Amino acid sequence: MSGILNEYAPIVGEEIIDQLRQLAEPLRGLKIVHVNSTREGGGVAEILHRLIPLKQDLGLDAEWEVVTGDADFFLCTKKMHNTLQGNRETISDDLLRHYEKINAANFERLENTLTEADIVFIHDPQPLFLAHLCPDRRGKWIWRCHIDASHPSRQVWRYLKQFIAGYDASVYSLPAFAQPSDHPLYVIPPSIDPLSEKNIELKESEINSLYSRYEIDPGRPVISQISRFDRFKDPVGVIQAYQMARSFGPPLQLILAGGSASDDPEGAEVLEEVQAAAADDPDIHVLLLPPDAHRIINGIQRLSDIVLQKSLKEGFGLTVTEAMWKEKPIIGGDVGGICIQVVNHLTGFRVNTPEGAALRIRYLLKDRELLAQYGKTARLLVLENYLLTRHLREYLTLMLAVLRGSENRIEF
Ligand code: UDP
Repeated sequence: MSGILNEYAPIVGEEIIDQLRQLAEPLRGLKIVHVNSTREGGGVAEILHRLIPLKQDLGLDAEWEVVTGDADFFLCTKKMHNTLQGNRETISDDLLRHYEKINAANFERLENTLTEADIVFIHDPQPLFLAHLCPDRRGKWIWRCHIDASHPSRQVWRYLKQFIAGYDASVYSLPAFAQPSDHPLYVIPPSIDPLSEKNIELKESEINSLYSRYEIDPGRPVISQISRFDRFKDPVGVIQAYQMARSFGPPLQLILAGGSASDDPEGAEVLEEVQAAAADDPDIHVLLLPPDAHRIINGIQRLSDIVLQKSLKEGFGLTVTEAMWKEKPIIGGDVGGICIQVVNHLTGFRVNTPEGAALRIRYLLKDRELLAQYGKTARLLVLENYLLTRHLREYLTLMLAVLRGSENRIEF
């Protein structure tokens, strides 16, 4: 059997690949459509780039569509994102009508694809309204929520849940995120692709070239955070942690690298706040990267001594998974998917404040043996739980479950 899936066998084992092929057999030829709102930037796009070719390799007729919109549409969907993650603001009726109008325009463009599909995955709130516009669909529709919706604002949840109810199932990344619903709920954590440019092994020379490119001193410790410039990622808190750790400890360097996502209108404003906080400290490197900077991000994660992800809210935190795969200990916010990846005293530390992060930075930098040991454990945790092959297996199982209902299934 040929195909890209076989390239994963040396990492996860032949047996896992055989299982995937068996599981996909009854789904061969089915038309599967994924819909989200950006091809570049953020974890959802990152996953879809890799998942779609693997589904195709398994014989599924998989495709990926992206909804487009104007500034007000993305203003509205960013507010939805923020309020689902607990921000207390309301969204005006006018903006909600605009959200519906833009979804309707997208539906006109995608109508044939969506009505003919056997399974449609709608990712996050941006295209959520599409199901409401498609009453004559023949396939099963699944809402895939990637964000921490455990404490959503009431107004926004009340609005969205009337459309979520029209779906055949919902998928969340963690049990804690799931909201009660009349249809089946599934929990599927995301994953990283060990063979993507973001995660493949790099030659030492390629990693080393980043020192001169970004004027980083190879002789001093480096900590980094890779993230969209988003307040939930707390980049300013990272700068504060760095400043505190550095004032008593080693002459640290900090890299804050990120790009913008086309569906995120707040990025430029947050970047300005970060640049102001970094002031003129030559050891803080704020890098605005293009969307295809995967090898650079890979290299930055590899040259870092410790990787931070000091989020205040987080869906899953693929940046954490990526760095763990590269044997890096993580200091992360005690939120969302970071909680299941960062195990205190095993793969890193979860913290709630810049002070906590600073303390742990100094603790780890003082004990290099421990730091290396945390990194090794981190990679193992990812190998067992958060690689794309596990994710694919769960999506295949999910598709079989929604297509067959309770037929051939034992309900507990
Ligand atoms: N990422 C990127 N360029 C950037 C910032 C982030 O390619 O400038 C990638 C990052 O490597 C990760 C994804 O975008 O794969 C971010 O996913 P995560 O779950 O950490 O956060 P999200 O942005 O989805 O909230």
